[in-house]
Amino acid sequence: MKIKDHLAQAKDVLFSIEILPPLKGANIQSVFKAMDPLMEFKPPFVDVTYHREEHVYKEHSNGLLERISTRKRPGTVGICAAIMNHYQVDAVPHIICGGFNKEETENALIDLNFLGIDNVLVLRGDPIKSETYFTPTESGHRYASELIDQVVQLNQGKYLDNDIINPTPSDFCIGVAGYPEKHYEAPNLDMDMEFLKLKIDKGADYIVTQMFFDNKKYFNFVDKCRASGITVPIIPGLKPISIERHLTVLPHRFNIDLPEDLVKAVRDCKNNKDIRQVGVEWSVQQCKELIDYGAPCLHFYSMGNSDNIYKVAKEVF
Ligand code: FAD
Repeated sequence: MKIKDHLAQAKDVLFSIEILPPLKGANIQSVFKAMDPLMEFKPPFVDVTYHREEHVYKEHSNGLLERISTRKRPGTVGICAAIMNHYQVDAVPHIICGGFNKEETENALIDLNFLGIDNVLVLRGDPIKSETYFTPTESGHRYASELIDQVVQLNQGKYLDNDIINPTPSDFCIGVAGYPEKHYEAPNLDMDMEFLKLKIDKGADYIVTQMFFDNKKYFNFVDKCRASGITVPIIPGLKPISIERHLTVLPHRFNIDLPEDLVKAVRDCKNNKDIRQVGVEWSVQQCKELIDYGAPCLHFYSMGNSDNIYKVAKEVF
């Protein structure tokens, strides 16, 4: 079932999660083990992130360094299929521009179609670690909006190869990312909003936001979206803080601000257990306010950690 239909038919606020494929070498049981407790809250869908290759240097005995391309978290599509099969919930694979040319993208979409996956979260992807700026792959896409064009074309039965006789159209529901605190490359929030609107105009069905810790950022973002003529559902992304390092890692990695009160409460904690408790309590407060506001779904970034999400969900759902 499509995410837009889940959202349209929901009588209450929905609970959903985003998971990361485990590091290479782990099996699917490790994914199920983290997800099992959260199934109590009946997520209608689960997002699975996509991770590009990284370049690492391997030192040989003669002292020479060899540059190796490796993917540490492969398996997005396989995990989606396994989740759908195991839990009978919908899986949403993230698909990105980076590392794919158009033909590879088309083939990936065909694979998803054959597996009965009819949802995708369409993203540009970040630059790989060795790049400062995002570089599109040759014959690939520069922006998520271009990748949306390709998915929409496939939904119309338009494959890259024009000679296909009687092509079957795909039927993907398309989600996109939105940034209440602005995407880090955008010159300002208004300009970022213009490009977000472009993604919707091109055919995206809903927006999932970057994580935020101050609900006012989400409320302002929704107001701005509505004022720009964006009418699709806007799903807030949430993450309970669980370690002191999050105070620096999350702003650095996701270009977000943390409210002073939250930072102070974490800093005042004596140990990790207290920090986790502060993170859970903050998140529960956020959720309650978001539900009162009318958010359609609360979407949790698990980042490999589900026990604190369980505690939050237990208080809220
Ligand atoms: P875009 O919408 O293409 O925007 C990128 C930048 O370009 C923005 O600054 C925008 O304002 C600007 N822009 C857009 N269109 C134009 C245009 N036509 N001309 C000029 N400027 C333009 N990354 C992964 O690698 N894997 C994942 O699984 C993943 N999951 C994510 C899930 C969520 C919910 C979110 C919020 C992010 C996720 N990311 C993931 C990170 C994401 O790929 C990065 O934030 C990336 O830098 C931007 O992706 P985007 O789809 O928002 O890009």
